[in-house]
Amino acid sequence: MRATVIHGAGDVRVETVPDPVIREPTDAVVRVLRACICGTDLWPYRSMPASEPASRIGHEFIGVVEETGSDVSGLRRGDLVVAPYMFEDNTCDFCVEGLTSSCRHGGMWASDGFDGAQGEAVRVPQAQGTLIKLPVGPDSALLPSLLTLSDVFPTGHHAAVTAGVGPRTQVTVIGDGAVGVLAVLAARRLGAERIILMGRHPERTSLGRAFGATDVVADRGQQGVEVVRELTGGDGTHAVLECVGLRPAIEMAFGVVRDGGVVSRVGGPQYDEVPVDFRMWTRNITLTGGFTPARAYIDELLPDVLDGKVEPGRVFDRTVDLSDVSDGYRAMADREALKVLVVP
Ligand SMILES: [Zn+2]
Repeated sequence: MRATVIHGAGDVRVETVPDPVIREPTDAVVRVLRACICGTDLWPYRSMPASEPASRIGHEFIGVVEETGSDVSGLRRGDLVVAPYMFEDNTCDFCVEGLTSSCRHGGMWASDGFDGAQGEAVRVPQAQGTLIKLPVGPDSALLPSLLTLSDVFPTGHHAAVTAGVGPRTQVTVIGDGAVGVLAVLAARRLGAERIILMGRHPERTSLGRAFGATDVVADRGQQGVEVVRELTGGDGTHAVLECVGLRPAIEMAFGVVRDGGVVSRVGGPQYDEVPVDFRMWTRNITLTGGFTPARAYIDELLPDVLDGKVEPGRVFDRTVDLSDVSDGYRAMADREALKVLVVP
């Protein structure tokens, strides 16, 4: 089969790789219908040294079950399924507690010899726990929105949930990437009364407005902090969702959070230190967020996607064939595209 392989920064190729086969009785083989490119895929695309061994890539997919191992029940050949960005048994103590990202039998796609999602098919370990059956056909118009359940929509949701967003909450979302605008959608879905989106790309912030942002602040740094504080009577907001992952973003987050408020960070922070100083202690600021337990959230988010109450798939603004996947990477890296759908 053909699959995407990354050889180094800027060097993504489609190559012939071994067909996936059932190796463990808990496996399934899934033919990929739709995959996509994640902001985190851009990290190696921007910085992977050519000296590192080439690696499969991609961790978001929807597909059709082709084959199941003898221990897999509840799934059959022909079922349409979505997979979260990592596989998990969904039965261990962490999974039962809702922390599927810490699953004792979990692992990541495209690492340790496991298939990546940007290819024609995937061997799925722990298939019964990992795969969620979707009650739609392979040509459903809902596929893009259902695909966001793999990672990006649950990640926006995780930011909002860990920050305690609900009715009467005022929220600031930092970042107008795919995670940021879906954090807006998630905060709106949870009932937030006001959502200030900090971003400076007009086509992305207008999607953020369509998803429920009530205010858009294009300023950054101290100026951005001051504008948000002016909008909120000087206080800042109860919840701040940091969806960028860079040091200036977390600094802004602590600048715009209200006393007693919560800062949540998702999407893989690229900084080692956070500005939680004595002043933040006196202000009773909480820092939370983390690695998204996507599997645990899909059951909650799926019905609203199926009903059309939310349309997270609107983040996809470009579609490429698998053979053109390198162009998809380039378009996302150059910020020509917000999020790219890949059709094998
Ligand atoms: Zn588990």
